[in-house]
Amino acid sequence: MTLEVRAPLAGWALALAEVPDEVFAQAMAGDGVAIDPTSDVVCAPFDGVVVPVGDARHAVTVRAANGVEALIHVGIDTVALAGAGFELLAKPGDRVAAGSPLLRFDMDAVARNARSLVTPVVLSAKGSVTRRTTGRKVAQGDVLFEVESVEDSPSTGTPSDSASRKFRVPFDHGLHVRPAALIAAALKPHLAEVELVLHGRSGNARSAVALMALGARCGDTVEARATGSDAQGAIEALASVLSAVTEVQPRAEPPRVATVPGRIEGVVASRGVAVGVAARMTQRDEPVAEAGAGAKAESRALRSALDGVEEHLVRLADQAQGTRRELLMAHAELLRDPALASQSNDLVRAGKSAAFAWRSATRASAQTLAALEDARMNERAADLRDLERQVLRALRGEAIASAHELAPRSVVIADDLMPSQLIALDATHLAGICLARGGATSHVAILAASAGIPMLVAAGPAVLDVAEGMPVVLDAEHGWIDIDPPLAEAAAAAKAAAQRAAERAADLANAREPAVTLDGVHIVVNANAGSYADAVSAMEHGADGCGLLRTEFLFLDRRDAPGEDEQADEYARIAHAFGGRPVNVRTLDIGGDKPIAYLPLPREENPALGLRGIRTSLANPQLLRVQLRAIARAAAKAPCRVLVPMVNDPDEIAALRAHAPEGLPAIGVMIETPAAALAARSLAKHVDFLSIGSNDLAQYTLAVDRGHPDLARKLDALHPAVLRLIAATVEGARAHGRSVSVCGAMASDVDALPLLIGLGVHEISATPSTIPRLKRTVRGLDSAECAELARRALGEESAAAVRDLAAQARARARAASQSASGVSP
Ligand code: PEP
Ligand code: MG
Repeated sequence: MTLEVRAPLAGWALALAEVPDEVFAQAMAGDGVAIDPTSDVVCAPFDGVVVPVGDARHAVTVRAANGVEALIHVGIDTVALAGAGFELLAKPGDRVAAGSPLLRFDMDAVARNARSLVTPVVLSAKGSVTRRTTGRKVAQGDVLFEVESVEDSPSTGTPSDSASRKFRVPFDHGLHVRPAALIAAALKPHLAEVELVLHGRSGNARSAVALMALGARCGDTVEARATGSDAQGAIEALASVLSAVTEVQPRAEPPRVATVPGRIEGVVASRGVAVGVAARMTQRDEPVAEAGAGAKAESRALRSALDGVEEHLVRLADQAQGTRRELLMAHAELLRDPALASQSNDLVRAGKSAAFAWRSATRASAQTLAALEDARMNERAADLRDLERQVLRALRGEAIASAHELAPRSVVIADDLMPSQLIALDATHLAGICLARGGATSHVAILAASAGIPMLVAAGPAVLDVAEGMPVVLDAEHGWIDIDPPLAEAAAAAKAAAQRAAERAADLANAREPAVTLDGVHIVVNANAGSYADAVSAMEHGADGCGLLRTEFLFLDRRDAPGEDEQADEYARIAHAFGGRPVNVRTLDIGGDKPIAYLPLPREENPALGLRGIRTSLANPQLLRVQLRAIARAAAKAPCRVLVPMVNDPDEIAALRAHAPEGLPAIGVMIETPAAALAARSLAKHVDFLSIGSNDLAQYTLAVDRGHPDLARKLDALHPAVLRLIAATVEGARAHGRSVSVCGAMASDVDALPLLIGLGVHEISATPSTIPRLKRTVRGLDSAECAELARRALGEESAAAVRDLAAQARARARAASQSASGVSP
């Protein structure tokens, strides 16, 4: 039986092969025809029923009585718009006649924000396309193509052939058209029937519509069930698209209460040990009246409370530095958020009190943010709750800046703590913090870490039973708090804490001084940074410059790539924070396992060996050109250089230079593969400097995935093979008089330091907080001894043997530096 599929839109009909998207162009989402639309209402292509497509609003499917389904997908990559600019005119289950309106879209907005407006109309289930109209204009309702419906073929294989496996959905936008097409393509060679099951609902794994209807989101666990011949093969095929969920998932929460009496375990948020007494902090939710005393009066009250809190925050920010200052400024800005203002003003105009209006507005936004699966967004929710509290205090007429009195050596115990509450604590008496809830990456944790206050979070409700004034030892090195410990334990902990604090203070005091070995070799200790806040922290910790600025942060978690102006401004801002010290701006290291929504890349079986670093940049020259121009502009204001990741040979650098603007600053390459290390001499000839990415170099040398949960111990950059590649890199760089740095995690490892110096590395780039200790370690080393140590390490047989050697060397250096700096060993 033949079914006519009529054009759902007016426009230019084109063959699928011309669609600017691989998935549709290769008919992986189904066969059909595409339309470059000139009208904005999608109409039904035949009589049928509207089929649900999850929560998508950019696509619609209609099923005819004979089972043929047509999917109309408006534009390319429109899933990323999350429904913005689309309005559904028919609901799932509606019966529609050919030509009935199904969906309207805002042509301008979608064209501006999506990759293309070209709209594929494809068969998403059975049937084969016969006559098609392409290469000409069509009016809505013209025949676009015809479909011969295919009868269901009897299932081959025995139903007893069955297999199942659980998978995690790895796609940013869940199971939408593109992943569904990849799944269908993977299953094509297999005869088995396969369905995916989520929350008790199942859908045919070969049908994009059925899969979208599951509403699976990124990270969800779906079960694949295959029956019929080659069921196992079909499941294996799925594994190439989806990520298998290992049996140990989900990871159990660590037990909160340890076996040691009086000990409660938590998560370390800021390292250190504190010995002191419990200081309980409770929070009360003060009731607020809903009804206001007239819109005028309430609006005036709200304005004055907001002004008061803002003034207070700005005053504190003016007196603060670094992370604390940034956070306070961010809060002051959030306070003036236009959405919060308009929501609260609307409520005030509707007769509500200023307090009620402000609380409703902040809570609504906080709730939305808290519901997102992004931890950083959840933390912005905590910021909003903090602002809610401060403005409500101001509205009640309480002092905004009231400091919380503390007894000496207080370990504050609370359910949760807000940044403003931490700031209000008397810093001279605050020894540590232990929270029943909270997260290790929350703003309050960042503040505590930057102030060197030991802090545990997520210790559970048991910690709230600790009585005020009770002696406690907070061990935020191991992750526990001991309540009322034996005197001997408390004394030992106090001694250890005092020693660590003295060491840290001495290291920090000397951090701005250069790191010079005992025999006069200057080692440059730079910082790795990923943001402006990192740059500020790097300077606080005495960084000599920035050896690696990972620019990915600017590109992730957004809908489109940052433009040239935005990038140039941000790079210059960060370089400015480094106060004229050199900054290596790394070009985008993205792709493979770090996807970005607006840069669709084919899903790869082996992402670590696929499109990454410079390969992604060269495959997206427009993105690369914009970034290089932005770096060049920043370099005109501050000493920025270009650092290129994942380079294997000089040809790639030549290809990159072809996209470089006039006046590009010095270029360096990262040595991250064995090939690059062994070819260091030829690379050094073509670039200005080399920087060893030891994380990737170790991963590729040892063939150990750097993210593998069970192989972490095997991934040790101190393996003699990795050290030999570092030696080869140094030799290659020297042949052309180029500098060589190490910027992977190895550079933050004090045990690796003498080996690196011994191998001839005189520049490292480390995590900011580790810099003071690294500099102190350098000052206790002798470069000739380091060379001897490295020579011996190169002859060792394992990373463990090298570690033993290194630990001995560090013990010697520690004794030397402590006697030099006056800290007792
Ligand atoms: C490295 O590979 O060591 C490196 C510094 O780069 P990234 O960790 O960003 O891959
Ligand atoms: Mg790397």
